[in-house]
Amino acid sequence: MALAVLLLGVLLWLLHRNELEEARLALIKDILWVEQNIHFHLDSGEEKLTQLVAELARGDQPVETFEVQARGLIATSGDFDRILLRDAEGGLAAAVPPSVGDRSGEVVGEAAPWWSAFTLAKSIGRAAWSAPFAIPGRGQVFEVHVPIFRDHRFVGMLVGEVAVDSLLAQQVPWWVAEKYKVEIIDANGTTLGAKTNVQLAEPGPSHQVRLEPPGQGVAVVATVYATETNLARNLLAAAIFALAILAVSSLWTMRRHARRRFAAEQALRTEHAFRKAMEDLLTVGMRARDLTGRITYVNPAFCRMVGWSEEELVGCMPPMPYWSPDAMDSTMEWHKRVMAGDAPPDGFEIQFRRRNGETFWALIYEAPLIDANGRQSGWMASVLDVTERKSAEELERWQQEKLQRTGRLITMGEMASTLAHELNQPLSAIASYNTGCLNRLALPEFDPADLRTALTKLGVQAQRAGQIIRRVHDFVRKSEPQLKPCTLNGVVEDTVGFMEFDAKSRGVQLKVSLSPANPAVTADRILLEQVVLNLARNGAEAMAHTPARQRKLSIGVTCQDGQAVVSVADHGPGIAPDVAANLFQPFFTTKEEGMGMGLNICRSIIEYHQGRLWFEPNEGGGAVFRFSLPTRSP
Ligand code: ADP
Repeated sequence: MALAVLLLGVLLWLLHRNELEEARLALIKDILWVEQNIHFHLDSGEEKLTQLVAELARGDQPVETFEVQARGLIATSGDFDRILLRDAEGGLAAAVPPSVGDRSGEVVGEAAPWWSAFTLAKSIGRAAWSAPFAIPGRGQVFEVHVPIFRDHRFVGMLVGEVAVDSLLAQQVPWWVAEKYKVEIIDANGTTLGAKTNVQLAEPGPSHQVRLEPPGQGVAVVATVYATETNLARNLLAAAIFALAILAVSSLWTMRRHARRRFAAEQALRTEHAFRKAMEDLLTVGMRARDLTGRITYVNPAFCRMVGWSEEELVGCMPPMPYWSPDAMDSTMEWHKRVMAGDAPPDGFEIQFRRRNGETFWALIYEAPLIDANGRQSGWMASVLDVTERKSAEELERWQQEKLQRTGRLITMGEMASTLAHELNQPLSAIASYNTGCLNRLALPEFDPADLRTALTKLGVQAQRAGQIIRRVHDFVRKSEPQLKPCTLNGVVEDTVGFMEFDAKSRGVQLKVSLSPANPAVTADRILLEQVVLNLARNGAEAMAHTPARQRKLSIGVTCQDGQAVVSVADHGPGIAPDVAANLFQPFFTTKEEGMGMGLNICRSIIEYHQGRLWFEPNEGGGAVFRFSLPTRSP
């Protein structure tokens, strides 16, 4: 733009110079033309005078001839304002038109301004021009002197007088006067006469040409009028410059604006790149939905998770392609809850399907999406693939189960030895009943009723032994827990049956108090019996150092607020605080031959039945282990 302005300036300057040059050339041409015109005019005048002189030299009456001829000459050609006839001494002989008094007091001789021309013409015998001089009332004039010789004798002088003003008036045409002020100046530069239409305040360029004849340093000068076109041109140039400056300044403003915009765009791009990098790096899936449930945004992590591309997902309405067909109803339920603003703040887990058909567990947190105006425009969710965590949990559960099974095997080993003792009891009873029967049979007389009683008791003991064997069988069987309705009174009674022998051998007194309500629960009876058996055996073992009188083990069943509670209270040393902290840890034992699995398994079994197992100090010393189970509604 600056270059354009510069070029424009140079162009204007060149144009101006060109114009000046042209004007100067025109001026020179015009002034030369004017000079030529005057020159021709004066030459022709001189020529005519010379012809008149020849005629006068021949005639006898020079004065009369002169007057006739001179009058004719002035009338036909405007070459001279006046024609004079002087005698050999320079005295005025005649004048056409006649003198009007302005030359009346004229001196002749050296003092006369025309004398040098007179003497020159006389001496060279040809026409000679005078320097300009002023005549009062006539202004500046100059003269041409043509000598008259008759028979080679100088007899007089024919003088043509040219007034500067009338010369300019006649010889400078109007079109020249329109353009220039035309002056005739003498050798000193003094203006002798001028032709002008305008009063020049400030002269323009001028040019001068010597005027020959009359010579003597006389010159014609033309001065150009300072025209108004200059003002117009200057105004135009100023307007162009103003426009250029305006254009430059607006360009500058635009540049600043563009730079600001560019900087803002740059900042935006940086911000966008930062966000994009962050978004791409996220391993958490992000998904936005509008208030109608349509997906409006998904991040790359979400796309990777489900296997559908962003283009395929954005715009989808429920049911979404990644919803698991097996969990369609529950997923729809969750969707409705989220849309109603009822999503749990700590997230929820849901099963989704990948594009390849694989299902996975997703942990979803939903939060309202607030737009720039502060209005809710939808929901934003973060989606975590928790399949691995889930399977880890699953694995843990499985391991726990395995552990329990192992525990059960261990308990089984323990139980096997117990049962071996237990089996001893009915078997020795059977043996003794059998001996009794045989003894009775050996008698010559025997009461069959006695025999029946003994045999019935024997049968009962045999059944008991069978029961013991079945328990072992049931326990060893690697089956899932069999949940069936059963009563807790029954469970405790059966367990006490198993415990009796063991208790007796340890000198422990068993005290059972059953609940009159006889609460019913849904449970695996064998497992519950195992729990009671474990607790009872622990209690009995704890009382090893208790005085024999106090070795009492109380097993009770109570029922309260829909919960059935079984308690096993002993009078042992109680639970020491350091033991209490680890009581339920697997493999924790204080016994030399203990496995430390019992309580841990007991708690797992009770928790499996949605119950709780805990212990408290016994009021009369020792410990009470209690477990509660939800009762079955009738
Ligand atoms: P184990 O009987 O094989 O040692 P348990 O898990 O049944 O394994 O018991 C762990 C420990 O808890 C026992 O070693 C014992 O120290 C303590 N304990 C259990 N029951 C009682 C009780 N009734 N009184 C005192 N200590 C007990």
